[in-house]
Amino acid sequence: MEKYPLTKNQDIEIEITGITTEGSGVGHYDGIAVFVPNTAVGDVIECHIIKTKKNYAIGKIKSILKAADARIIPDCEVFEKCGGCAFRHMHYSAECEMKRQRVKDAFERIGHIDVEPDEIIKSGRTNRYRNKAQFPVRSDKNGISIGFFAANSHRVIDCRDCLLQPKEFAKILGIFDKWIKKNAITVYNEETKKGLLRHIYIRKAFETNQVMVCAVINGHNLPKKDELIISLIKECDNIVSITVNENTNDSNVILGKKCRTIWGADYIEDILCGVKVRISPLSFYQINHDQAQLLYEKAAEYAGLSKDDTLLDLYCGAGTIGLSMADKVKQIIGVEIIPEAIEDAKINAQINGITNAEFICGDAPEAAEILKNRGIKPDVIIVDPPRKGCAPELLDTIVEMSPKRLVYVSCDPATLARDCAILKEKGYEVRKVTPVDMFPRTSHVECVCVMTRKG
Ligand code: SAH
Repeated sequence: MEKYPLTKNQDIEIEITGITTEGSGVGHYDGIAVFVPNTAVGDVIECHIIKTKKNYAIGKIKSILKAADARIIPDCEVFEKCGGCAFRHMHYSAECEMKRQRVKDAFERIGHIDVEPDEIIKSGRTNRYRNKAQFPVRSDKNGISIGFFAANSHRVIDCRDCLLQPKEFAKILGIFDKWIKKNAITVYNEETKKGLLRHIYIRKAFETNQVMVCAVINGHNLPKKDELIISLIKECDNIVSITVNENTNDSNVILGKKCRTIWGADYIEDILCGVKVRISPLSFYQINHDQAQLLYEKAAEYAGLSKDDTLLDLYCGAGTIGLSMADKVKQIIGVEIIPEAIEDAKINAQINGITNAEFICGDAPEAAEILKNRGIKPDVIIVDPPRKGCAPELLDTIVEMSPKRLVYVSCDPATLARDCAILKEKGYEVRKVTPVDMFPRTSHVECVCVMTRKG
């Protein structure tokens, strides 16, 4: 067997020739793939090897010998440590082109489908676009850290004013920090499973400016809560809801099942595509408001709805996609597994005076099967599943329901391509795909695609 060409702590010269789906640069050395985070295609670097595995190695930049054309100086101090962003070191246009290519590659390599994605819909804002953040709170010898987990780790990087979040999130974290220190509030320790405060979860409605604050705790009671509430509402007059989420589970799932309002409303309200939406802490809500509107507009264009249509909105969250299209169709039916989100969806229909919407709480594959057996024949089906995509049984049921058009909204091109390949075998063909940059500066990319029956 040939000798493995790399050793730990070795310095090598390498050219970056590709980017992984997680956003790491990759080059090759004597046939071995070397992954180097925070690099761009075209960079020639002196690389310090930090880990060697059988088929690959991981390195870090020691020095940049030749910078790629796309390279810029990152505008964030913690970019290299924090696991949140992947592309702060390159021009936004290069990032977008790379994301579009990734969608094309996924269709080609995973789905064996030859499709040319449309131009990616770029984000107007590349900073401060997120309307939601969940900050872990931990403590160590240096004191309290509030921020983000380092890449592939459970170490918290202290970062109060993340460039992806609205400014006032930093102010809210500052208020928590003071309150924790003044009252000796304990913070969660993942090893001992002890300590009270686990996460600070904040959401902001960009259209209405309303803010929701939620303390995620490993316990049942928040001591000195009145003091916290008074500071929060005194210093941030757009906070309308303060809740406590109880999470006593020994897992890395951030939110527990129980939320309790300790001040103000149980929800915040926003406006999305002209629809007033009420969002409670446990409901999913698109994190980039402006891009979500463009995504829904594209989905509506692909859906090509008409007045007599029945629209089935699977994985509907708080009902937002379907409700934004309710005036174009006869009937919408939404399906979602989280009960609180379904409650929000029903209220969202009501407060917008929408009377042609029905919402069902359940597992999408099971609910679709029930609807099919009830004789429902949707003209258009929209699916918007989590990253893992659709279960094969659901794809079967969709095909059996035989919609004119299937619009697939996806946050993972790989599972999208996999599911499109299954649907292709069953007679549905991809007609158009548009990537949408919902998450600038991170490695994630959203997509919407439309499929119709062959022939
Ligand atoms: N379409 C919505 C939500 C998309 S996110 C929007 O645009 O806002 C995906 C949603 O699928 C989440 O609300 C999640 O709770 C829901 N979900 C996850 N697994 C599910 C399942 N098996 N059945 C139904 N809904 C599910």
